[in-house]
Amino acid sequence: MNCSVEDCEREARNGGMCWTHRKRQQRGRSLLAPIRQYDPRETLERAGRDLADADTSEEADAEFERRRKRLAMAALRFALRKRRPQCPRTR
Ligand SMILES: [Zn+2]
Repeated sequence: MNCSVEDCEREARNGGMCWTHRKRQQRGRSLLAPIRQYDPRETLERAGRDLADADTSEEADAEFERRRKRLAMAALRFALRKRRPQCPRTR
């Protein structure tokens, strides 16, 4: 059975809704906003570009470190992407 939200083709879990829409309802968020697809490859590529574009002057150290950490996290998620195909957060 599919999710009860219009145009959503995800599988319903409890309450007649998919996991994402159920969570949205619980948090009082809009059910009609599009569900963003998490794409590990795209996120990794964007993080890599952001780091390459980062200002390397000393004043920008904090920002550079923030981008470096984001790239490290994106690389980890990319590396792990096929090991947890059932995790709804990464779909
Ligand atoms: Zn749904």
